[in-house]
Amino acid sequence: MAISLGEYSIALDSKDDEANVNFVSHAHTDHISGLRKNKKALASEITKDLVENRSHIEMELIEEPECVELLNAGHMFGSRQLFVQNDLYGYSILYSGDYQMDEPVLAEKLETKQADVLILDSTYPYPEVRFDDKSEVIDAIQFYTRKKTEHGHVLFGAYTVGRAQELVKILNDAGMIPAVDEKIAAVNKVYEKHGARLEYAPLEQPENSPVIIVSQSKLEATREAIVAKSVKRVYTAVASGWAKIFRFDTDVQFNLSDHADFHQALEYISACSPKIIFTFGSNARPFAKQLAIRGYDARPLVYTSDVNKLILNHS
Ligand SMILES: [Zn+2]
Repeated sequence: MAISLGEYSIALDSKDDEANVNFVSHAHTDHISGLRKNKKALASEITKDLVENRSHIEMELIEEPECVELLNAGHMFGSRQLFVQNDLYGYSILYSGDYQMDEPVLAEKLETKQADVLILDSTYPYPEVRFDDKSEVIDAIQFYTRKKTEHGHVLFGAYTVGRAQELVKILNDAGMIPAVDEKIAAVNKVYEKHGARLEYAPLEQPENSPVIIVSQSKLEATREAIVAKSVKRVYTAVASGWAKIFRFDTDVQFNLSDHADFHQALEYISACSPKIIFTFGSNARPFAKQLAIRGYDARPLVYTSDVNKLILNHS
C-alpha cells in the first residue's frame, strides 16, 4: 500500500516493493513491517525512539517533502497521520493509521484536515458499538483500583507500548504509583525523554505491590507468583476497546480505547469531508459497506494497492 509522489513512493504502515520511504504512523508493531526492508521513514521522533527501543529496528527519519504534512492522530504518544497534496495528479490524500476523536490520555490531540481522498483505519466497523465516555471509564478504573487495593492486589495486563503508559498516567492522576515490568519501564523511559510525566516503581516482589501493570503475556505468571506468596486476593484487569465486544479472561474489563468507534469515525469523516474514502485493515469490507449505506463513496483498499492507480481508475 503506497502513494507515489515524483521522486518518492511512500509505503503506508506496510511493506511495499516499489516504495523507497515508509510512513510509520505510530510504534505499534502491526505498523512497522516496511522498516524491515528499508529504514528510511517519515514519522515522529517519538515513534522512532519507541520503535528502536521496543522492536530494535533502526529508523532513519527523512525531512518531510514539501507536499507532505504529518498531523497528530490522537491514537498513542507520537502517532501521526499523513497528508499529501498530490499536485502531480491534482488531489489531496489524508491517510490515518490508527486515530481517535476523544481526548487522549497521553497522545497529542487529533488534528483534522479537509482532503479529497481519505484512507481510513477500519478497526471498529460496528454501528451498534458505542464506546463509553472516556472520562467515566477513567473514573471507573481509578475507583475500582483504589477500592480493591484496600484489601488486595490489582494486576493489569496491557500492551507494553501505549496502553501500559496510559494506565500509569491514569493511576498517577488518582495518587497511585504502580509497579511495572522491565519492558514497560523501558518504554516509560522513552515517554519521559519526550516530556511525559510518569511515576512508577520497578516490579521486584509482586506480592508486595498493591497495583501492578505487566505486559499482557505476563499476566497469568505474575498472578500465580502473587498467589504463591500473598494471602491477599489478586484482581486481574484489562483495559481495551474490545471490552465492548469480547469477554476477557480477567476479573474486570474496562472499555478504554485509543481508537475511534464507528460513530467517531463518522465525525472524523465529516471533519475531513472527503470525496472518496478507502478503508483498510481486516474489517475494511464491512466498514466500507456501512459507509456506503450512509451515502459515502467508500470502498475497501487492499495492502498491495498503489493508491494513485486506484484513485485515477476510480469511476
Ligand atoms: Zn495502534
